[in-house]
Amino acid sequence: MSAIYLDYHATTPVDPHVLAQMLPWFSQDFGNPSSNHSYGYDASKAVRQAATQVASLVGALKPQGGLHTVVFTSGATESINLAIKGFAAKSAQPCRIALMALEHKAVLDSSKYLEQTGQAELKWLKVDSKGRLELAELENVLASGVDLLVVMAANNEIGTCYPLEVIGQLTKKYGVSFFCDASQAAGKIPLEFEAWGIDLMALTAHKFYGPKGSGALIVRSGLQLQAQIHGGGHQQGLRSGTLNVPGIVGLGAAAAQRQAEMQADETQIAALRDAFQAQLQAAIPELVVNGDTDFRLPGNLHIAIPGLANHQLLAQLAGKLAFSTTSACNSALDVSSHVLCAIGQNQELMRGALRLSLGKPSTAEQVEAAATALIEAYQALKAKQNALV
Ligand code: PLP
Repeated sequence: MSAIYLDYHATTPVDPHVLAQMLPWFSQDFGNPSSNHSYGYDASKAVRQAATQVASLVGALKPQGGLHTVVFTSGATESINLAIKGFAAKSAQPCRIALMALEHKAVLDSSKYLEQTGQAELKWLKVDSKGRLELAELENVLASGVDLLVVMAANNEIGTCYPLEVIGQLTKKYGVSFFCDASQAAGKIPLEFEAWGIDLMALTAHKFYGPKGSGALIVRSGLQLQAQIHGGGHQQGLRSGTLNVPGIVGLGAAAAQRQAEMQADETQIAALRDAFQAQLQAAIPELVVNGDTDFRLPGNLHIAIPGLANHQLLAQLAGKLAFSTTSACNSALDVSSHVLCAIGQNQELMRGALRLSLGKPSTAEQVEAAATALIEAYQALKAKQNALV
């Protein structure tokens, strides 16, 4: 029996309808969008359609008509690098960047690189034990002088979502540009780039049933960025390189599909997650649920069991469940989660942390079976521990 997949924050399968829309662009309609002939025109039209689909999903349509700029990239990591480094290069030096320590590593490492090379001064924003931003403190920091505020839409480990509308208003009050990494949130919760005053937004197709290696950075019209990849001047000079047409079509198709399905799907996913959580809580009284349970991603369930290390649970489960013990990006490095460090979690809970994440293929039967397996593993480990005392 294959493992029950509970790792939709790491990645999602490509939706069959999305795949069907991508396929012709590999070999039948293989034109280069830069070419001045019918093959190129067709590809270029498909790319423009994808830009509209992506912009529509996140409300990046301009009030006067048209779209904010959609730069297609290889995924959120590249989008984030372009946003932060590209912004800093065009701003007064050093660029004052305010951010939280629980942002994705792509944000942290890009920002620290700029700091180490004297191009940025970093101002760290306080978060509480649920990962929430302290808004009064944020306002003080913005008032102290900031060029770029970076706040993710939702955290990839503990699922905490951020009040982007309020934050956007604060950035406008203090004349600060606002970059939002929406990788985990796009296609899962409503986002309004234009209305909320967001200036830069990163997203990636593989988190919402599109292909891996395809993402976008949305740039507010008029905002100046320094390109990070130079070459043929593609995409208004912001990101050179022949466009990945099948990947871009897949990103656009996935965005359009999420726009149509998100509300119903995510309501269902949240209900499954709540049932999962309730089943675990009923059997494991000491269970700790991390993140902001009042405002978290619908599919997110981040837990810890005091006194049980996650590697013990993994071993006891013997491959029955596929989930993450920290974010996928960190797992390879075998280090404790920087997100849990940022929220001040103690070592014992950190060692027990499990990120379970549901997606649209998740079923009630899977959730029930997964909860039962986890509870049985917990009970077996507890019995072993009790036998030792
Ligand atoms: N930002 C967040 C919040 C993420 O969860 C991820 C992926 O794990 C990324 C950025 C990086 O995305 P990509 O895999 O497309 O580079």
